[in-house]
Amino acid sequence: MDKEKILVCSKCKNIANIRISPATALCKKHFEEHFEKKVSGTIREFSMLRKGEKVAVAISGGKDSAVLLHMMCKMKKLMPIKVSALLVDEGIHGYREKTIMTAKKECKKLGVPLHIISFEKEFGIPLDKMLEMKRKFGACAYCGVLRRACINTGAKRIGADKIAMGHNLDDAAQTVLLNIFRNEPKRLMRFGPAWLKYRGKNAEKFLPRIYPLIRCPEIEVAAYALMRGIKINFMQCPHANEAMRQNVRKMLNGMEMKYPGTKARALEAFLQMQKNYFEGMENSENKKKFAECKMCGEPSSSELCTACRMISEFEMKK
Ligand code: SF4
Ligand code: ZN
Repeated sequence: MDKEKILVCSKCKNIANIRISPATALCKKHFEEHFEKKVSGTIREFSMLRKGEKVAVAISGGKDSAVLLHMMCKMKKLMPIKVSALLVDEGIHGYREKTIMTAKKECKKLGVPLHIISFEKEFGIPLDKMLEMKRKFGACAYCGVLRRACINTGAKRIGADKIAMGHNLDDAAQTVLLNIFRNEPKRLMRFGPAWLKYRGKNAEKFLPRIYPLIRCPEIEVAAYALMRGIKINFMQCPHANEAMRQNVRKMLNGMEMKYPGTKARALEAFLQMQKNYFEGMENSENKKKFAECKMCGEPSSSELCTACRMISEFEMKK
């Protein structure tokens, strides 16, 4: 057998189960450790949880929210928090009933109370019926807004302090690009884990949202679900392909293949822009350091501007 082809764990040299970067592969044990550490690290990084809080985990029956629920139950063992699950039934026939079944089973297994909130009860009309009528936008435009409202209302109703969302790194990178492509800068600035820190008093009507999986690539979330035997439903919403998000998703996957780390860099760039936006360019690191290049006098964020640094590199080799 060709030895080169066997992937070994970068930590223990046993056979690896997953490659997490071009240079790193991990076995099941070390991958699970890596994943759990990343999630708890993200929770700490953005101060997502406080002792005694009640967290409503927005679930859908899909892998991301199932893994999130699982991780929140793990966190419950480490700190005193209460965990409930919240599921929105939009009224999408042939799809939602099945995912509800999966979600119910998983919640039962974890001993987590499940609360279902439906478009029909909240707004008097399921999504399927809305779509039969004459309308301006695609299914997701209505569904997205109404789902958000349902999650907020449902979480308040059960007395939750925070809502945990299952967005993974892929979702986050897509959201960043989507909001740029749609010219929605204000909406973009209200997205993500750091918004918790920046949201003002006028946002108090909306419960804070936390995103513990935001640094986990989709493929890692799927692998974790598989390795831990977490019940997930692989069905896709019949309207999923209508969304512009699908095209952005394909584009980002292509970029990630060619330039590994693209998704993570898109998220980092956004977090930095959001920081600058809310903390003001005046106070930001960049502004403080913004000075003139010692060599050419052009604006530069360090002693030498990038152009002069490049040139001096060649001069040294001369
Ligand atoms: Fe709603 Fe669109 Fe998501 Fe389907 S894909 S659940 S219609 S937002
Ligand atoms: Zn290992």
